[in-house]
Amino acid sequence: MDLQLTGKRALVTGSTAGIGFAIACALAAEGAHVTLNGRSRSGVSAAVVRLIEAVPGARVDGVAADLSSAAGCEALTATCGDVDILVNNLGIFDPRPFEEIQDIEWFNFFETNVMSGVRLSRHYLPAMKARDWGRIVFISSESGICPPAEMVHYGMSKSAQLSVARGMAETCVGSGVTVNSVLPGPTRTEGVGTFFSRLAQEQGVSLEQAEQDFFAHARPTSLLKRFIEPAEVASLVAYVCSPLASATHGAALKVEGGVVRSLI
Ligand code: NAD
Repeated sequence: MDLQLTGKRALVTGSTAGIGFAIACALAAEGAHVTLNGRSRSGVSAAVVRLIEAVPGARVDGVAADLSSAAGCEALTATCGDVDILVNNLGIFDPRPFEEIQDIEWFNFFETNVMSGVRLSRHYLPAMKARDWGRIVFISSESGICPPAEMVHYGMSKSAQLSVARGMAETCVGSGVTVNSVLPGPTRTEGVGTFFSRLAQEQGVSLEQAEQDFFAHARPTSLLKRFIEPAEVASLVAYVCSPLASATHGAALKVEGGVVRSLI
């Protein structure tokens, strides 16, 4: 299937690794001109090289900007001109007992996970509306509808994204601009890999055992019973960004391996 993305300009936040990098690869493979983003210049340059290796002939550039503040978002928009596709992928997580999460951490999660997407959408949406075409996708999480006990602040930020995305979609009635959320489940990214290696070491079990325990006790409803690969999330996101997905609007789309036990 040709996703008809040739010539579209796409910005993917937090995309030097993990799900964001996979989304950038998928969009570039479909012909979009992709802008990568990460915090450090060296990380962004290395990711640009990796993407061109993965997708020969890809049209890609990158902007280093820390999007956990208004100033960082402004630095990005000052460099990256209008885009047709904005994927608000950036998101941080940090398992912590609720009683230990301080105010500053709540605000940091809100600012990084929610406000980065709000600020960038506020900047890029008007031109999309003026051109009568655009795609904005928020990468939320199954944690947005099943708040996790081990990181309540993260769950809060992922729920907030769902509300923001749907609310923004309500402002795009009758236009060619769509706003959607995509909800991944446990996905095998570098950050998750590091977390499980540490957990396995602490518990004195193998990595395989730690993963099996996770699906037995922490995510028992998973139908997949394995980690999702970043490319499996990216293929849904690439479709949502396509002109072919014109009737998918204001939706919260799950790619969580069946963790959420509900009919819709
Ligand atoms: P990750 O930790 O692997 O992402 C790292 C990327 O984010 C890098 O490019 C890094 O440079 C960038 N980054 C981190 N802080 C930044 C900042 N302040 N400014 C700019 N860039 C920054 O992330 P991931 O696991 O791939 O998650 C991506 C998205 O998917 C997040 O929104 C996350 O909540 C969501 N998600 C992930 C999982 C999972 O299991 N990995 C599950 C559900 C949802």
